[in-house]
Amino acid sequence: MSNDNLYARFAANWRGDDVFLTTPEGDRLTYAALDTLSAQVADCLVSFGVGVGDRVSVQTGKSVDYVLLYLGCLRGGFVFHPLNPAYTRSELEYFFADAEPALIVCDPDNPSHAADVGATLGVRNILTLRGDGSGTFRDAYRQAPGRHPVLDRDGDDLAALLYSSGTTGQPKGIPLTHANIGINAAELSAAWGFRRDDVLLHALPMFHTHGLFIALTCTLMSGSLVRYLARFDADQVIDELSDATVMMGVPTYYTRLLANPRFDAAVCRGIRLFTSGSAPLREDTFHEFTARTGHAIVERYGMTETVILTTNPLDGERRAGTVGLPLPSVELRIADPGDAPLPDGEVGRIQVRGPNVFHEYWRKPDKTAEDFTADGFFNTGDQGRIDDGYVSIVGRAKDLIISGGLNVYPIEVEQVLNECEGVSEAAVIGVPHADFGEAVVAVCIGDADTLEEANVRQFARERLAAFKLPKRVIAVDDLPRNAMGKVQKNLLRERFAGLFADA
Ligand code: AMP
Repeated sequence: MSNDNLYARFAANWRGDDVFLTTPEGDRLTYAALDTLSAQVADCLVSFGVGVGDRVSVQTGKSVDYVLLYLGCLRGGFVFHPLNPAYTRSELEYFFADAEPALIVCDPDNPSHAADVGATLGVRNILTLRGDGSGTFRDAYRQAPGRHPVLDRDGDDLAALLYSSGTTGQPKGIPLTHANIGINAAELSAAWGFRRDDVLLHALPMFHTHGLFIALTCTLMSGSLVRYLARFDADQVIDELSDATVMMGVPTYYTRLLANPRFDAAVCRGIRLFTSGSAPLREDTFHEFTARTGHAIVERYGMTETVILTTNPLDGERRAGTVGLPLPSVELRIADPGDAPLPDGEVGRIQVRGPNVFHEYWRKPDKTAEDFTADGFFNTGDQGRIDDGYVSIVGRAKDLIISGGLNVYPIEVEQVLNECEGVSEAAVIGVPHADFGEAVVAVCIGDADTLEEANVRQFARERLAAFKLPKRVIAVDDLPRNAMGKVQKNLLRERFAGLFADA
């Protein structure tokens, strides 16, 4: 019987002497080394009492050891639970209480104090990992024997647990199985023509599905090379591009590259593919990029709950403003509010079904029932349209804000601001911003004397990750509402659309 462990699926395509990963800092790892080190990580986790199916929560920056930890978890059948390093102490309290990890790996220099939070909640094992790889995690796994086998896993066994904020303000756990990620990985790397001689320039964060499953996965599925950068920096990416064949990014990366006078066709000469996702790529960005470099960016659409759903084709028309066509095993339909499919060209709810779609929320059966239809389609929360097979996303049903490629759910920010002195009611919206795509803006009813923008922002800074902070706080006498008393955010968005026009 074949092993459905995602690690086994990847490893079937590796050649030991091939180089898997390099960094500008001089790290170099072959696939053979990856195999040994991930076995050491799995052995090490077992020695701490981590059992099959247990969660391993990780709140650290990007490092080579981070990749080893992820692969060690897959190998041993542990559930990898990545967390944004920007999460604050109170956010971590919720995640740890909900995920109940058997072990936490955290950065001791992060002000979120994950170790304290974990200890208070009774987590048995806490290891440290800094951005340079130092810490008790490395000390521990380097001493482990490295004999752990690739555990036999069923496709439905859990590989990872990621969280996405819910519109109710409470983040929901999204467990992804070995088959969810593995089947998607195989289809995606085939769709994008990944080969052993590809070099992927990886500047994405690793706590999100884009960097972790979409980007790294294509490398691991094709046994190719990843050039692993600690973060996105336009000048560094321009220096590195000429040695790469593929780059994946969020739209903000592409607008920043275009804003850099050094970015031109010559620096892109080795690249065969640029992809974009996690937020809408503006049509003017797509066209400007083509004019500057000769490359048409391949825009694709995915989400944590489903990994990748659609992509523009490698061969064939890459249509600006669309997210392309569904992957082979993804069923995607546009439905009305009663879940009945709509004809092409009509706007409705984007609903999806397929082996890539998660099965149920972590310990929230009522939420699962809400978000799946009777015939097993998942309601993405996005509004869209299909024309000649190409999917366009026209809006987000749930008012999600995507700022710099990261999701901000207004309700979560509103709940914090509503606690702030001087604010009687906050409405949080996304406003077009040249750099971030959208910027978070809070429109607040409050007493003009006590509602100080700086105070409200400081209040929020202590309670929310930096990417969720409102860039502006605007005091108003009242908010526009519909007959049901709901704030009409569409009117607010229109009113403040030009707020960052000169930014
Ligand atoms: P996440 O779970 O963080 O990956 O966010 C998923 C959401 O990002 C989707 O439901 C979409 O609203 C949005 N998204 C992802 N890719 C695109 C895209 N290419 N264009 C527009 N929105 C996108």
